[in-house]
Amino acid sequence: MYHPNVLPRLEQCPALVLNADCTPLSYYPLSLWDWQTTIKAVFLDRVNIVAEYEREIHSPSFAMKLPSVIRLKQYIKPARYPAFTRFNLFLRDRFSCSYCGARDDLTFDHVVPRAQGGRTTWENVTTACAPCNLRKGGRTPLEAHMKLRQQPHQPTTFELQEQGRAFPPHFLHETWRDYLYWDTELEA
Ligand SMILES: [Zn+2]
Repeated sequence: MYHPNVLPRLEQCPALVLNADCTPLSYYPLSLWDWQTTIKAVFLDRVNIVAEYEREIHSPSFAMKLPSVIRLKQYIKPARYPAFTRFNLFLRDRFSCSYCGARDDLTFDHVVPRAQGGRTTWENVTTACAPCNLRKGGRTPLEAHMKLRQQPHQPTTFELQEQGRAFPPHFLHETWRDYLYWDTELEA
């Protein structure tokens, strides 16, 4: 039966994980830990609790509010360059076709086709919609008279994280917002 004051299920109480400098470990995907991992880290003294849910957990001898934001005690230095993956490539190109800007039916395009010696690298692979990919065929952009909106390049981890901030997850707990979007709120 529906009850308006029903508490969220434990599975719906992940903690936002901040690095020691108070920035999220990752924006996209957002760095979240489930409540079990979070509690374990608290007891291992690896994190400080920054904010909490109303939801409590109990055992016969103890009770605590579930952390909603935690901060690592030890700073983790992010890798300078992200892995070359399909997902990261889409993220670099903001999930849009590098030729026409379409956001649907996305695939990958070798700018210099493999048949012409083009390699599978950050600098030669770009996001393209299927129609553009088909139209370009085994040609270079010049041969196909298609213009790239930007030259493919190897992004830094920082650049990808900034890009990821444009794609917020569906659920944002109110205690997370200060750590994610304070700058956008200032601009609003
Ligand atoms: Zn396109």
